[in-house]
Amino acid sequence: ERDQCRGKYAGMEEEMEKLAIKGGYPVRTSKIYYGRQWVDEDDIAAVSDVLRGDLITCGPKVDELESELCKYTGAGYGVVVNSGTSALHCACIAAGIGEGDEVITTPITFAASANCALYCGARPVFADIDPETYNIDPESIRSHITDRTKAVVAVDYTGQAVKADEIRAICDEYGLVFIEDAAHSIGTKYKDRYVGNIADMTCFSFHPVKTVTGGEGGAILTNDEGLYRKLMLARTHGITHDESMMEDAPHEGPWYYEMQSLGYNFRLSDIQSALGISQLKKLETFVEERQRIACYYDQAFAGIKQLHTPPRPAAGDRHAYHLYPLLLSP
Ligand SMILES: *Cc1c(COP(=O)(O)O)cnc(C)c1O
Repeated sequence: ERDQCRGKYAGMEEEMEKLAIKGGYPVRTSKIYYGRQWVDEDDIAAVSDVLRGDLITCGPKVDELESELCKYTGAGYGVVVNSGTSALHCACIAAGIGEGDEVITTPITFAASANCALYCGARPVFADIDPETYNIDPESIRSHITDRTKAVVAVDYTGQAVKADEIRAICDEYGLVFIEDAAHSIGTKYKDRYVGNIADMTCFSFHPVKTVTGGEGGAILTNDEGLYRKLMLARTHGITHDESMMEDAPHEGPWYYEMQSLGYNFRLSDIQSALGISQLKKLETFVEERQRIACYYDQAFAGIKQLHTPPRPAAGDRHAYHLYPLLLSP
């Protein structure tokens, strides 16, 4: 296990100082930020280009961010939205969750993982977690299933993937929709597969504390065309311009559209999408830096028996280290 860290923490302080200059990160202040964006001149140029152009929303950068996310993760379809919370809300709508349903999730997460069920009139049900990874325990999911359960919202807490094979098997057995809250885990791998290409729907967040930012923003990835169409409707007022989806009146021309369900304005602008595209190009570097820093922490805390450091990922898995939690024991 230690081999993964060999050589990675050597010279870390000088490295941090170099990063401080490049990314403008105030390393030498007394304040340690919970999370801070890393924006460079390329990001600023990408945003400026959009601002100088004609389309600052509903333009080509939105589609480009979606296709870049698909290319990176291997997912078939991507829908970008204005936040990670909206991504989870859209996923619950697409999953058909409604009044009286139950959605199983984890209590160790941000509020949005449970609120997405409440937005749809459903009840969040909390399963227990694995004491090692703090991720949802598949056996506890199983023991909380009732005939009202419709979906599981599993969070890759801190950037370590959930036990997706076990959760997949349970969802298949009971006919549940598997939603992965991947707000912490863009760049994470599970058994050599990128997060984004594993669950029925995977939700990312581009808030500045997350690994990749758009200022704000989020995305849902799926391999299911039917879910993709529902997500697209939920994002824009339930309205479609797609002729192949029209239900009644004849398609009279490009001005014609149909509102087919109640949706929202959850759109992401081209300004934000351009920042997201530029940031995504640096994702591999971001994750590598986080892994190096995690190795440095592992080394620094190794001799302190009251501190329980996070377990290293299994072979084939990659931990994106959104967070590095320490468990204190007396
Ligand atoms: C940040 C976060 C969200 C919500 O994302 P926003 O973009 O802030 O709306 C959802 N789930 C988890 C686990 C998060 O950390």
